[in-house]
Amino acid sequence: MYGVKEQLRAELAQIEADGLTKKERLITTPQSSHIATTQGEALNFCANNYLGLADHPEIVGAARDALDEWGFGMASVRFICGTQTQHRDLERAIADFVGTEDSILFPSCFDANGGIFEVLLGAEDAVISDELNHASIIDGVRLSKARRFRYQNRDLDDLRAQLEAAREGEARRILIVTDGAFSMDGYLAPLAQICDLAEEFGAMVMVDDSHATGFVGEKGRGSHEACGVMGRVDIITSTLGKALGGGSGGFVAAHQEVVDLLKQRARPYLFSNAVAPTVVAGSLKAIQLARDSDEPRRVLRRNAELFRQLMTEAGFELLPGEHAIVPVMFPGEDGARTASQIADAMLVKGVYVIAFSYPVVPRGRARIRVQLSAAHSEDDVRACVDAFIAARDEVG
Ligand SMILES: *Cc1c(COP(=O)(O)O)cnc(C)c1O
Repeated sequence: MYGVKEQLRAELAQIEADGLTKKERLITTPQSSHIATTQGEALNFCANNYLGLADHPEIVGAARDALDEWGFGMASVRFICGTQTQHRDLERAIADFVGTEDSILFPSCFDANGGIFEVLLGAEDAVISDELNHASIIDGVRLSKARRFRYQNRDLDDLRAQLEAAREGEARRILIVTDGAFSMDGYLAPLAQICDLAEEFGAMVMVDDSHATGFVGEKGRGSHEACGVMGRVDIITSTLGKALGGGSGGFVAAHQEVVDLLKQRARPYLFSNAVAPTVVAGSLKAIQLARDSDEPRRVLRRNAELFRQLMTEAGFELLPGEHAIVPVMFPGEDGARTASQIADAMLVKGVYVIAFSYPVVPRGRARIRVQLSAAHSEDDVRACVDAFIAARDEVG
């Protein structure tokens, strides 16, 4: 490696010195609200398992049956010999659930976002992206030749200014892209106003609903349902790796023409293996469960409300909202250290939460991000709050 190993070791040492090394805990159980790690048992408040479906018996059963019916792997991309009838069934079920004409599966939502921009946008087009959009959107935009504009997080005045700039550049197509729910804050994008602006400027709207599909909105269809703009969002990308069972895979749900063109041109679709049969069957079951019952969403809402209420009563500062992502803020100079000490102290008490600080969130805006799940009981939520209070007393 001609000295490269030394360079890499120096880079790793710098990451460690900056306190940014990410350490992976080894879980020894299925993903759930109660897990065990190699360091002991823990109540889990940091998974994206919003509906508690990751270890749901019906989903596990569907996946197990799929092994017998459909085999283990596809060993092919979709367009050669990697499309089983169930892949199409899942794509239709997704489209039906989120309310679009059709959908197309990708190996992940990262790949869906990685593939879509260069297919839809060329050098004569413009993309206008929220500054806090997910890394996969940023990378996908980089892969397209479109002119790039960025607006401040959820800032409609700035979005208008960027739309005007794009229009002055005489863009052929303009695409506004935003996360439906922002993962560090739990805030929803103001989709009604974004759709209004898009109509005014003749722009398309794309929403990445990874932190919304299945549980945001009355029927869990996503942020467009919660914002009352079903049918006005042109493109929805999302993941099967969070609320919908948490297996893997992502999708683009959109107008027929968009889906059809992606099937011809999207590189992560054309050149990466088809989603595995077990995952397809399990995800289909997850969508059925999310569609047919409001109960998990009701429990999730109850848990988020209860947590927000008890934490506020205990004097913690939360970001406002209704999302199952609840950021507990530790502002100021010492916030990053306090947040990480509290998270460490909570883990000792058997409650697993994660602290985030700069550069993941702005300087002085450190937080512990708590993620509620329908799998949590009321007692679990209360235990989490008690652990926060005890850890705060300890850390001071
Ligand atoms: C998690 C996430 C992704 C990535 O999804 P995968 O299917 O795991 O690749 C993309 N976008 C957003 C907003 C996410 O939160």
